[in-house]
Amino acid sequence: VNGYLNRIDQFAHLNAFNEVFAAEALEQAKAVDAKLHAGTAGKLAGMVIGIKDNISYKGHKVSASSKILDGFTAIFSSTIVERLLAEDAVIIGRCNCDEFAMGGANENSYFGPVKNFADETRVSGGSSGGSAVAVQAGMCHAAIGTDTGGSVRQPAAFCGAIGLKPTYGRISRHGIIAYASSFDQVGPITNSVSDAALLLDVMAGPDNYDGTAIQQPYQPQGELKPSTGAKKIAYLQEALDSEGTDPEVKQMLTDNIAKLKAEGHTVEPVSFEYLDYLVPTYYVLATAEASSNLQRYDGVHYGYRSPNATDLQSTYKLSRSEGFGKEVKRRIMLGTFVLSAGYYDAYYAKAQKVRRLIRDKTNEILQQYDLIMVPTAPEPAFAIGKEEKDPVVSYLHDIFTVQASLAGVPAISLPAGNNSQGLPLGLQLLTKQYAEKELLEFSEYFL
Ligand code: GLN
Repeated sequence: VNGYLNRIDQFAHLNAFNEVFAAEALEQAKAVDAKLHAGTAGKLAGMVIGIKDNISYKGHKVSASSKILDGFTAIFSSTIVERLLAEDAVIIGRCNCDEFAMGGANENSYFGPVKNFADETRVSGGSSGGSAVAVQAGMCHAAIGTDTGGSVRQPAAFCGAIGLKPTYGRISRHGIIAYASSFDQVGPITNSVSDAALLLDVMAGPDNYDGTAIQQPYQPQGELKPSTGAKKIAYLQEALDSEGTDPEVKQMLTDNIAKLKAEGHTVEPVSFEYLDYLVPTYYVLATAEASSNLQRYDGVHYGYRSPNATDLQSTYKLSRSEGFGKEVKRRIMLGTFVLSAGYYDAYYAKAQKVRRLIRDKTNEILQQYDLIMVPTAPEPAFAIGKEEKDPVVSYLHDIFTVQASLAGVPAISLPAGNNSQGLPLGLQLLTKQYAEKELLEFSEYFL
């Protein structure tokens, strides 16, 4: 813990943590040491973890990197924090993220952007940017993020780490600050596949506090075995054809295709006719759900209340106007619009139908193939400040991550070398619902 605390101090300017639980982490570590000596330590003894600042931990502040939660302290722990602590993980602090997990560059945080350790002029990715940089810069052993449309996988890719988004419902959302509830899923960011498997084992499984958590008992991954036998892998031809994909990202995909083929795997292009609908469908549904989830921040129940409020109406109005950032407001307005009586059928109901088509088509491909392989993101980490102006440009960057989110299937981002400027690239694998074990075992192959 002391080693990590030093690292956190040394690289504080990267802005990866919103708060460090220094004294408490040292106390926890002492307790774990004692258990180790007594032979009673849990599976995560020795693991020092950062948690994204949208994960509740009783008695600790939780802000979702928003001004509107200013001063708010969690009154209970999320299920995942309880499970991590029960296995003797040490939680070292809460990691910076985009406000309410809305974003893909960590530039929407009330606490400012997180800098990429590979190049400090560039973004960390997001929304779990602090978690990814904390792992990248050696400030903790592993970190926990949340992934609604790519927020674990994409920052992991930008930071050369592994990011796993499990099957929707695999890990309880109880105590996670909701963004878009039918998409939100917790996931680990790690330096090894076996750490991702271990953290999944500890966090996964049914939970009485989350009705959307998968109710069947969870089979722990246990020891991962090397994947054997030839696999059938599909890749999206459009990812290679698209002008929006960076040439070196295309090259990375082409190289992996060639390597897999040379080793006897079947790798074939598939056409995904809904590619252009992925981003619009995701943003209609995610903003609709967000506009509903964020109604609770009214200046009365949680955190920030405007000092200028004089009555109930102005408490709502001013607290929300002053408390939410620009991107969050944009999404609340967009989500409210697509849910409004006159537009519900044209946007929200239609997007639900398109989501079904996307899910069915994705599952159909995954009946024929073991895996779908795509880049995690169309380009590597970009310069801080570059994209703030045009939200549509940022939304389009989620093209390769939202498919797994819309379909609810598991997906992992794996480090796939660096580009010519030394920036990490990420390769993403998607597989069938519930097939995390196969996904993790095959992931080892790439590393
Ligand atoms: N970039 C996507 C968004 O802004 C995904 C974010 C996430 O997964 N939380 O919605």
